[in-house]
Amino acid sequence: MAETIGFLQPRPAVIARRREIAADLADLLPAGCLISDERGLKPFETDAFIAYRRMPLLVALPETTEQVAAVLKYCSRYNIPVVPRGAGTSLSGGAIPQEDAVVIGLSKMSRILDVDFFNRTATVQAGVTNLNISEAVSADGFFYAPDPSSQLACTIGGNIGMNSGGAHCLKYGVTTNNLLGVKMVLFDGTIVDIGGKALDAAGYDLLGLICGSEGQLGIVTEATVRLIAKPEGARPVLFGFASSEAAGACVADVIGSGIVPVAIEFMDKPAIEICEAFAHAGYPLDVEALLIVEVEGSEAEMDAMLVSIIEVARRHGVTTIKESQSALEAALIWKGRKSAFGATGRIADYICMDGTVPLSQLSHVLRRTGEIVASYGLRVANVFHAGDGNMHPLILYNINDPEDAARAESAGNDILKLCVDAGGCLTGEHGVGIEKRDLMLHQFTQTDLDQQMAARAAFDPQWILNPSKVFPLEGRPAA
Ligand SMILES: Cc1cc2nc3c(=O)[nH]c(=O)nc-3n(C[C@H](O)[C@H](O)[C@H](O)COP(=O)(O)OP(=O)(O)OC[C@H]3O[C@@H](n4cnc5c(N)ncnc54)[C@H](O)[C@@H]3O)c2cc1C
Repeated sequence: MAETIGFLQPRPAVIARRREIAADLADLLPAGCLISDERGLKPFETDAFIAYRRMPLLVALPETTEQVAAVLKYCSRYNIPVVPRGAGTSLSGGAIPQEDAVVIGLSKMSRILDVDFFNRTATVQAGVTNLNISEAVSADGFFYAPDPSSQLACTIGGNIGMNSGGAHCLKYGVTTNNLLGVKMVLFDGTIVDIGGKALDAAGYDLLGLICGSEGQLGIVTEATVRLIAKPEGARPVLFGFASSEAAGACVADVIGSGIVPVAIEFMDKPAIEICEAFAHAGYPLDVEALLIVEVEGSEAEMDAMLVSIIEVARRHGVTTIKESQSALEAALIWKGRKSAFGATGRIADYICMDGTVPLSQLSHVLRRTGEIVASYGLRVANVFHAGDGNMHPLILYNINDPEDAARAESAGNDILKLCVDAGGCLTGEHGVGIEKRDLMLHQFTQTDLDQQMAARAAFDPQWILNPSKVFPLEGRPAA
């Protein structure tokens, strides 16, 4: 496809020294931890934002924090860009390399280091997958709350990079609300510990700054996260509506009434059909929009909360209410939702938008999204975290047709601008990456961005960490 988003020009001095750099890095790493051949590098040329790709200079796969530090020390000495990478599931191109960059992949650092039920914390290496944490503590009645749909593959390091969320974050918060500490390597190889097992750390909230910094402030090698006790029970319930607007208004009213279920997820008709065909979850096919609302607690608590939610849903003309009757039904309901992106990929290429809006604007933004995509002659499926106002229009297109792809990108940009104009923000959980980088001036003034870049430069004055991302290429400080 024709690329419309630019990358930084590769540094000729770095490209010219490729062989020498490979030999030097091989000396710093154990055997088998440096990839330099074209075939081996190929899987690292893109992430889940597959429309863009660049072959990296080299890929380092360190096994320890000290090895990460040695590689960073070397790269900073020779001004070599570095792109941190977890599982490469970023939907905004956050892990896509550039031709002069060494990718530092954390996949070999995948050990759970400590589980502390007294403090309700787990300390894990950055390459541990999100789901692994919950699996490790499940038998003891605990779980790790943020649950991206990609949780089978994505790493805790990547979750911190993007401040990731998921269906159950409405009640429990996103990564930043569940992260207590990190071990991180700075651009020059210095190893720092920030936060710990306690609820709050002294000094500035550096952890808050690091969470969501997209690999630009340092490379996280270990994380300490909060564990949560499993509820007594949980029950997802399906609410069908005759229009997306009615479902959107119902969500705003539920939250506005002070009711906070664990999750409120939204699907429009195209998304319902796609997910039902894939998961056979029992979604109603005769509705225009569906909410999956999950309540949890004791049977009495769940019943009481459902009575209040059903009352609100009736005010918005709910046409179908279906409670899951068994653990299997509940699992299927979530399987359908969590497979939504993959299931969509079975029928078309798509780009996934990730804007947030205030809940009062949900109905309006949903209607305008449909109009915008139709005006480009394309189709859209909406499936998203409605309770958080975190929208994910999936714009369907043909990646092999450059004009179609350009239309999809333009439609996506218009939708994200709509979210900002409605009082929301460019990204809820997928990060800016390269995808939204050039829209940052729609959200922020140059003065805002200058402040953010000054904070970034305090951590990485040479701008070697993931430099093509987040900040528009124009208006940066001179390197
Ligand atoms: C099918 C599908 C469903 C998804 N569903 C969700 C969802 O529900 N919620 C959600 O929030 N996201 C979702 N995502 C997006 C993606 O999974 C998340 O952004 C995830 O956190 C990325 O993790 P990763 O390990 O793949 O990181 P990568 O994609 O490898 O990297 C992501 C970013 O983090 C940086 N990074 C990676 N590791 C480190 C580290 N150790 N230290 C510092 N920086 C680092 C990278 O440089 C990059 O900027 C989905 C993606 C897919 C493909």
